[in-house]
Amino acid sequence: MVKKERPAFLKETSTPGRRGYLPPVSDVPTVPTGDLIPQPFIRQTALTLPELSEMEVTRHFNALAQRSFGVDQGFYPLGSCTMKYNPKLLEDLPQLPGFQGLHPLQDEATVQGALALLHHAEEVFSAITGMDAFTLQPAAGAHGELTGLLIIKAALTEQGESGRDTILIPDSAHGTNPASAALVGFKVQTVPTSSAGVIEPETLKPYLGPNVAGLMLTNPNTLGLFEEKILSITKMIHEAGGLVYCDGANMNAILGWARPGDMGFDLIHLNLHKTFATPHGGGGPGAGPVGVKKHLAKYLPVPRIVATPEGWRWNYDLPHSIGKVKGYWGHFGVIIKALAYIYQLGYEGLKQVSSDAVLAANYLQTLLKEVYHLPYDTPCMHEFVLSGLRDKQPAVNTLDLAKGLIDYGVHPPTIYFPLIVPEAMMIEPTEAVTLELLNSFVAIMKELARLAKEEPEALKSAPRTTPVRRLNEAQAARQPVLKW
Ligand SMILES: *Cc1c(COP(=O)(O)O)cnc(C)c1O
Repeated sequence: MVKKERPAFLKETSTPGRRGYLPPVSDVPTVPTGDLIPQPFIRQTALTLPELSEMEVTRHFNALAQRSFGVDQGFYPLGSCTMKYNPKLLEDLPQLPGFQGLHPLQDEATVQGALALLHHAEEVFSAITGMDAFTLQPAAGAHGELTGLLIIKAALTEQGESGRDTILIPDSAHGTNPASAALVGFKVQTVPTSSAGVIEPETLKPYLGPNVAGLMLTNPNTLGLFEEKILSITKMIHEAGGLVYCDGANMNAILGWARPGDMGFDLIHLNLHKTFATPHGGGGPGAGPVGVKKHLAKYLPVPRIVATPEGWRWNYDLPHSIGKVKGYWGHFGVIIKALAYIYQLGYEGLKQVSSDAVLAANYLQTLLKEVYHLPYDTPCMHEFVLSGLRDKQPAVNTLDLAKGLIDYGVHPPTIYFPLIVPEAMMIEPTEAVTLELLNSFVAIMKELARLAKEEPEALKSAPRTTPVRRLNEAQAARQPVLKW
């Protein structure tokens, strides 16, 4: 491994006494610390912080920013994550003083506009998904799943059906689905995907019984295929006494074309940070609102926004509610951006988003299957999954191909997921691409296939252009080294 010399401004650096900005001397009388903080918690020695000028700090953080990769740097076809371009105008909106200056503990009478906006967002999400009511509290998709499963549990318990302890989940599902079900105390039963890449009612039948609480299904699923038998599937689950949860992370494929509520789903979460243009990937705030059909509305988290003769109010008095799942109002800024994005596009624009996303994915799928193995060879929705090279090269695997892409300035696709596809590469271009970009990606992918055959070492040693080479990604996430 080539160890590159770190630029001087990235070395651990500090010069005693060097300062950037000095805050004014405080005129607040000091309270003897021991009165507020118990003695054992009081620091005995001064904290050793680096001492730097403002310019050094600016260059340090800019250098770090240049070493990361995001949708504003280049192509990011990370399947299932919908890494679309986020219009910059949207970033300004939550920062408008009328929004930014609000406090969630303000009296309702002083925040009528904000409450109206939230209520309106609930209505818009209901219209898009075909649901009857929404909660905006959940912080992300997985949190939405947790909320939805708590609602399923509450509904079954109230019906005297608490013996229903099993959630059915296809083997193609995102890992958060079984994790959320287990967290709520359900048993997870895996349902196999058919050779066509979807769930067949016939396959589902043997799993149905008095223990079934419900089914969690992603539609289109994580192979990028629409569950065409969805009406039969939801009907079967209902007849068996269960509820059907839609993992709505893939809504980008069907906006304005189809609604999970019309497919028989009882609940859904949306990933506002995927479908509705909030930047994500660096751990920034997202939102995972949950929509339900009328019969489940009474279980939604408190408080609910209600119209009263005095205006919008928070209603906490809902005896069937599962309770609160998040502080305050949910991620208000993300909701503002999602609503603005929806307004900006309108109904026809949203339909166009999905048709463009589906078109881009099919374009790539058609050209890439010439050199990569496409296990489910059928028109796809917004994403598709390849299974390594067609002309298999024993020396080169999907990880090598993914690392090779980095040297061409492309973020690798999602790899080794879904688990049912060996050497999986899950590619989602999104609608935010140009034809030239798609063509250049195809050219790069074909060049990687050539390298795999003729110069496998070049791929084995990729990436070569990055400050660090191949990392143990799990270790990097769990035990990050935050110091030079
Ligand atoms: C992203 C995703 C999730 C989880 O959503 P988060 O917002 O990351 O918690 C769940 N299911 C699918 C299919 C996803 O793509």
